Amino acid sequence: MGPAAAYLAATRREMPAFLARDHYRSIFDGLQTSLSSYGATPEFDLTYSAERTCETIRTGERQIVIYDQYLGQTFNQLNRLHFNTTDPREARVYAYKVAAEFAQIDGQPRLGAVLAMAHVASRDDTIGHRKDTDVAHRMRITALQEAYVMAHEAFHTIVERQVAWREQMLRDARADFLKNFYLSAIIRLEEANHPDLDTIAPMYLKQMELFGSDDALVEECLCDTLSMSVICPHPDRNPSIGQVEEARDAIFFALRHLRLLAFVRHAVHERRPGFVANDDWLDPYLVRTQFLRWALGQFPPLLALRTPEMLTRFELAQERYSKFVEDPILFELPTAIAGYANKVYPEAHERELGDALTDALLQHPEQAQRMSQLGEKFFITDPELMSQEFYDTRLRALKARMDEGKDV
Ligand SMILES: [Zn+2]
Repeated sequence: MGPAAAYLAATRREMPAFLARDHYRSIFDGLQTSLSSYGATPEFDLTYSAERTCETIRTGERQIVIYDQYLGQTFNQLNRLHFNTTDPREARVYAYKVAAEFAQIDGQPRLGAVLAMAHVASRDDTIGHRKDTDVAHRMRITALQEAYVMAHEAFHTIVERQVAWREQMLRDARADFLKNFYLSAIIRLEEANHPDLDTIAPMYLKQMELFGSDDALVEECLCDTLSMSVICPHPDRNPSIGQVEEARDAIFFALRHLRLLAFVRHAVHERRPGFVANDDWLDPYLVRTQFLRWALGQFPPLLALRTPEMLTRFELAQERYSKFVEDPILFELPTAIAGYANKVYPEAHERELGDALTDALLQHPEQAQRMSQLGEKFFITDPELMSQEFYDTRLRALKARMDEGKDV
């Protein structure tokens, strides 16, 4: 078993049978070619799990970007909602499914089961999004979004290796964005005596403080724009307005998809018994979206072809996304989840039990068999999650991580 396979087996519940390796091989090859001009050749590998995250593992000199194919399927479903649906309920019904899966991996299987039932109960009434307005366009957008996520992750590894370049870029991006976006926006609002100044200015100041102090966040923003430079067709190839516009939309809405998924994940996570409320988790995503929109506004291939119609289409697409994808989830999902959680809690303190189990397991690995039997009594049993093998591999990964004293 190679390092990537071992890591994935230990940390995720994969469904390897669904992997479409041949399809992704060509995307990986294309990215490796584009990225080689940055003096790096990250390796790519594939997984399929409910986590839906793209991450990098490092073993010695090797850096392997692991892409979760299920993220692409999720993008595709969100794109269907974005382009096709005319009923805001459809987004919420889909969000139940996503939330159910997040609840499973968040250690709340009972809540997950209830949410899964809520999804199944209403999915047959909400199928408008399956009728495509333009299937080829949707498929191209999804493929671009997948490539964007992979390139973004690869750029982290490239940026990390070039320390001086990273420092310079962080400094420049920070100065540029703080001055030319935030400050100038506040000044414009002040000069216009804008009625919303009192709500917007404090929000912007908070975001400025975050952007000014958090290197990791600035790196996220940089990797978004670097990724865009790889995904968007190069000006030398004389791309059409349509091609450039498609790349712009794909990347921008991929980031909004990611933000929305983070929201659903949080709406589930905050139902864990003992959870301490913290509203700051959303700010980095808001800053990242602002930065990307601002960067798109001055990206040379886009600037070269920009027309007023193109800007109008972008505005309309954003409105449509808010109305049919984001708002129904943002405004209704947390209340719905809280309602279901009240039914399954407080008698089931699953997370505490899960944590206790893991702690005990670390101290007494010889007890793994007994622990997993105990676990079966307390959890809704997922045979895969509760199997001896699952605990053994998880235990090995945890021990390896502790031995190395760092994240694998
Ligand atoms: Zn990132």
